[in-house]
Formats: sequence, structure tokens, C-alpha cells
Amino acid sequence: MDVFYACMFAAFGLIFGSFANVAIHRIPKGMSLFRPGSHCPHCKQKIKWHDNLPLISYLILRGRCRHCQKKISFRYVFLEGLTGILWLASYLAFGLTPLAIISCFVLLAFIILAMIDIDTFEIPDGINIFLALLGVISMFVAPIKGNFLTVDYKSRLFSLLSSLLLLLLFYVSGRLSKKELIGGGDLKLLIAAGLFLGWELQLLGLVFASLIGVLVEIPYRLLSKKSLKARLPFGPYLAMGFSLALFFGLRFLEWYLAFFQLT
Ligand SMILES: [Zn+2]
Repeated sequence: MDVFYACMFAAFGLIFGSFANVAIHRIPKGMSLFRPGSHCPHCKQKIKWHDNLPLISYLILRGRCRHCQKKISFRYVFLEGLTGILWLASYLAFGLTPLAIISCFVLLAFIILAMIDIDTFEIPDGINIFLALLGVISMFVAPIKGNFLTVDYKSRLFSLLSSLLLLLLFYVSGRLSKKELIGGGDLKLLIAAGLFLGWELQLLGLVFASLIGVLVEIPYRLLSKKSLKARLPFGPYLAMGFSLALFFGLRFLEWYLAFFQLT
């Protein structure tokens, strides 16, 4: 590990985390990501660049707008910090490689789509297309290497087949139970993420996502007295499941295969 590169990844993560906040706010409204510049949601005053530094400005301004003194939502800082940490993790896991850089943007897309899904119950097509593009690029330059398993272009192309099987499975079980089991945006996310993760990590990520979803939603709904049948934004769980699969999936699969002496 090189401290300089580690700092660069973390710093750019903070900056792109700040961009994620803008994207989460503007994409569902169909607004431009770049114009106009940032402004306070309460008093509409433009935010100067020196008040718009990730984390630092929040601390200096003590979490309040310089003009109207209204509180700045903690969510902004949280997402900036989270992006910074995930970008650093990407460098620590994959080194200074094309995979590390592509992973950074995949994780950024995951954060943006998870939050938009929570806010609006939709995953915008544009983000899934962006993910699919990253997946296609990764086929040429960014294998994911474990000790003896590798996600290469074959595994990534093969994910189109596993995606097709999953689509069929959700379609048939949806028809049988007469319910929509998974949203259209979630299915597109499954296909797009598969192109980057390969079929093994795509399926493992889906399993992780379902497990986290059940573990979080059931206690949460019981405690908050929300109906267990209320609609569930699955995007955030898919994003978490796929992220875990990206960082730990191959190691988990290798451990699993060795444990049952399948290799
Ligand atoms: Zn203000």
C-alpha cells in the first residue's frame, strides 16, 4: 500500500460523494447535474466553493448554512464519508489497477441508485446503463482475481445467461403468486451488475442482498409497526449485497468450495 495513493482515493471519494448528493437530488427531477451550482435547499443562496468542501465545510460551519443558519442534513456528510471509505477500500482491495478505478465508479453508482430508490422507489435507467457500460469495459481490462477463482470476460458474458434464468424465475413465480416480486429497475440492475461482477458474484450478491433485506426489514417493520407487506425498495439491499460480493465474494466462494472439498 502506498499512503499517497490511499489518500488520493479517499480524497477523490469524498469529492465524488459530494457529487453523489447532487445526483441523488437532481436525477429524479430530470435536472442537469452541473448547472446551476450548488445552493442551500432552504434559502436558495449559492454555496461558494470554500463552503462546499466535503466534510471540512460541514465541520467549519457546524452543520448549518452560512446564510440562513438552517441545519444541513447529516445525510450529505454521511454519504460523502461513505463514498470516501468505499473508494479507499477499493484501492486497498485491488491496488492501483483498472479494477480499483472501475470499482470506485460502480460503488458510486450503487450509492446513488440506492438513495434514489429509497426516495422515489425507482432506479433510473441512466444509472443502470452507466453500470452496464462499466461492466463491458471491465471485460477488457479488469479481471477480479481470488486465490484460485477469477472473474474474467467469460464469467461476465455468462452472467447474461444467469440474468435470463433469474428473469424467468421471477416472472414465473410472479405469475404463480400473482404479485410483482421484484421491480423492473431491480431486474435491470441485476443484469447490469452481472456484467461487472460475473455470474458467480452476481448470484452470490443476490443471496447476500436477500439475507440483509430479511435481517433488516423484519425487525425494522415490527419495531416501527409498519406492515410487513408494505413495499420494499430492494435497490439498497442489492447495492449492499453486490458490494459485499465484490470485496469478499471470491474469498467466500473459495472458502466454501474448500470446506466441502469441492476443489
Ligand atoms: Zn441557507
